[in-house]
Amino acid sequence: MELGIKAWARSRNLSCRVVVIVLLSSPLTKSFQAAMASFKEIVDRARAAFQSGRTRSVEFRKQQLLQLKKMYEENRQTFLDAVHSDLRKPKLEATLFETGFAEKDLDFLLTRVEDCLKPQEVAPVMPQDKCLIYKDPYGVVLVMGAWNYPLQLSLIPAAGAIAAGNAVIIKPSEVAPATAAAIAKLVPQYLDKECFHVVCGGVAETTELLKQRFDYIFYTGSTGVGKIVRDAANKFLTPTTLELGGKCPCYVDQTADLDIATRRILWGKLFNLGQTCIAPDYIMCPKAVEGEIVAKAKEILKEWYGDSLEKNPDLCRIVAERHVDRLAGYLNSGKVVVGGKYDKESKWVEPTILVDVKENSKVMQDEVFGPILPILNYEKYQDAINFIKKGEKPLAMYVFSKQQNVVDAFLSQVSSGGATINDTLHHAANPNLPFGGVGHSGMGAYHGDYTIDTFLHKKSVLIRNFDSAPEKMLSLRYPPYTDEKLKILSA
Ligand code: NAD
Repeated sequence: MELGIKAWARSRNLSCRVVVIVLLSSPLTKSFQAAMASFKEIVDRARAAFQSGRTRSVEFRKQQLLQLKKMYEENRQTFLDAVHSDLRKPKLEATLFETGFAEKDLDFLLTRVEDCLKPQEVAPVMPQDKCLIYKDPYGVVLVMGAWNYPLQLSLIPAAGAIAAGNAVIIKPSEVAPATAAAIAKLVPQYLDKECFHVVCGGVAETTELLKQRFDYIFYTGSTGVGKIVRDAANKFLTPTTLELGGKCPCYVDQTADLDIATRRILWGKLFNLGQTCIAPDYIMCPKAVEGEIVAKAKEILKEWYGDSLEKNPDLCRIVAERHVDRLAGYLNSGKVVVGGKYDKESKWVEPTILVDVKENSKVMQDEVFGPILPILNYEKYQDAINFIKKGEKPLAMYVFSKQQNVVDAFLSQVSSGGATINDTLHHAANPNLPFGGVGHSGMGAYHGDYTIDTFLHKKSVLIRNFDSAPEKMLSLRYPPYTDEKLKILSA
């Protein structure tokens, strides 16, 4: 594999990790510009490999997926160390939602790899015809990952694209440099070097990369950059999956078991220290419920983390100092009743609850993406629904209630990417459920079978023969057109 960045790095005796850091902090040099020119070479090589036809064979696809499995098995600790270095991710979270999550998805893909490209026969309109849906890999797929789950967000879509017979270029997020470096180092050691490539770098490099022609782009990240990716894709009419973000509402009513509800909300919020695209962004509840949630949250936080939360290894860190600043800017959007401390140097923001929050306050304008939980008060559930519907369509929605009519009202009236009722995050963990957004929270979906499906074009095929009997019937469509022909054909 000839990485643009890697080649440049080798010429200067640098490791990929160092390169990522250099790229983020220094002006472009001449040799780096040369490396960027080689993005075209990388895409050309991937396309030539795809066009050779070998990525389509079952044996090749299976062997590459097994190689990925071997990569995980032999380097689990390296990956765990990398995500710890980037986000101080605890081992349990990293195992469940990074390495373990990716490995489980891979096992699922392996059960589908034999069959997923086989044409599917469907009923014909004319009995003598044969109708099939052929599954065509798109070609060269670009997978762009985000930093918050830096391993699985790059490698799960990449594995799906491989299972579906595509060539793949992986662009991990530069904001998680240790994981990006691990992916850049290990993927070429295990996968075919012509078909699969890893490219590292920041905004400048990605901007250059996006000038290339891809056959499919799978992007995970913010809605703002999603629009940039979509603009770039438009130039070549490249189809895209956009896995984006936004504010995920969480409604709680007085019928919910408030102890269990508060635990489940805090767990979903504090996993990865709130840096999860489907983390509950804010709570909506009647004022009386709010008091109980706040009291329970104080007890639960003490039970889980003790008295000095900042020293507890079960809580991640905020990915970058600028995000600590951003989160600190939300603290005066309401009254702090839990937490409120932060420290820029150690990239720490304490789990925090805000009450007396106004609908138009700063914390309600952006996706929080951190451990700050604002609470808005609604006495009637319909007012909460109306508020959600005034904003962009959420990636996820949560409802805690024992009242079926309330649950039904949220599910039928609110368009969201997904939803979990009486818990958080879990709809994303079942490979039988498609995971994705709608409107500003994204387009397209993946996980399980949906991942393979995403990377396949469904080609409609009708096969007809030259037998004379059907030809008689078929010839009715030819001119001269008559009322009699019309009558027979439209019967
Ligand atoms: P990020 O900064 O890691 O960016 C994601 C990708 O976009 C990276 O590969 C990065 O290099 C590239 N990029 C960044 N700026 C760019 C630019 N100006 N031009 C071209 N490429 C650029 O991640 P982020 O955007 O900070 O991610 C956080 C967001 O992602 C949140 O909104 C979160 O909700 C969302 N997210 C969504 C999902 C999902 O599955 N729907 C998963 C994780 C995160």
